[in-house]
Amino acid sequence: MGKKGGTAVEPRPFIGRVFLSAEKKEVNMIDIEIDLQKEQQAALESLERVESPEALDTWKQAHLGKSSLVMTTFGKMGSFSKVERPQVGRAVNQVKVALENAYALKEETIRRKALLSAMASEKLDVTLPGYPVQRGRMHPVNLLMREIYRIFGDMGFQVYRSPEVETDDMNFTYLNIPPYHPARDMWDTFYTEDEGVVLRTHTSPGQIRSMRDYYPNPVRVILPGACMRYEQQDQSHEIEFMQFELLVVDKGVTFANLKGTMDDFTKRMFGPGAHTRLRPSHFPFTEPSAELDMACIFCGGVGCGVCHGTGWIELGGCGMVHPRVLKYGGYDPEVYSGFAAGVGIDRTTLLRYHIDDIRYLRNNDIRFLEQF
Ligand SMILES: [Zn+2]
Repeated sequence: MGKKGGTAVEPRPFIGRVFLSAEKKEVNMIDIEIDLQKEQQAALESLERVESPEALDTWKQAHLGKSSLVMTTFGKMGSFSKVERPQVGRAVNQVKVALENAYALKEETIRRKALLSAMASEKLDVTLPGYPVQRGRMHPVNLLMREIYRIFGDMGFQVYRSPEVETDDMNFTYLNIPPYHPARDMWDTFYTEDEGVVLRTHTSPGQIRSMRDYYPNPVRVILPGACMRYEQQDQSHEIEFMQFELLVVDKGVTFANLKGTMDDFTKRMFGPGAHTRLRPSHFPFTEPSAELDMACIFCGGVGCGVCHGTGWIELGGCGMVHPRVLKYGGYDPEVYSGFAAGVGIDRTTLLRYHIDDIRYLRNNDIRFLEQF
């Protein structure tokens, strides 16, 4: 000061201007920062009181919109000096980020609150189970057929399928029922318009078909499927019914094998208490032939309505394969022997599920079918 004492008077106003100018800017900077901090505090406080999405929108317009302090300060950046600009920028940016974060949090809170109140007012319970999907199910006859397949599968039998529309020869002649033979009366059937083509009356044609397929190997098959007969329909008779047939052909097959196999089947199907008897009978395609009866499972053999007081329920027919049938199948009856058995699946289904009328099985009443 001493050195420049003489000339100090002149520049003072200039220096003073610069000083004052700089000081004024300093004051402005502090003002802006204070204003921004006040704005941040006020905005956050008012955000606390925001309850609705509409109020939140209004708040956003006021504090982060075009005319908000934050945005107008950004807009004025050009009016600050190079030194001030970063400082102001940093300050306004901090406020902006703080407000935006607070806004995002509030928005999420309000959204959740709105959802909860909507759920409460609209009584929408998203935890309620939906409408149940109606599931299909197996027909009782099919259920039983699958069980029969399993039982005989365990015993080493294969399922062999043969046509439901057969030639007269397969259905009758090769089974030792020649044309005009009175035995054909037992199997009155439906004839097609084609000469010599019928709807099969039993699964027995499959015996001939499987023997011709397997020759000269041993045969152990189960022949399942639908059969048709010309019947008067009643509680226990239908024009269409399901049947399965067993056929075993090999060297040294005996009647004891037949008895053992059928007894084992009834035990596996109806429980260990079930037992069978063979009653002499006659079929053209077996010799000797027998009816297979099972002790009544309803009365234990004492006699009841189901067994017509006899204590026995007829399951089907069986016997040793007739030599002529073996021959039609291609096997030499001098070397090979075999047994066959036919059991009505519908009748077995009635017994198994305690159903008292065979007609229920095919009249497609959903109230009946839903029980299985
Ligand atoms: Zn009985």
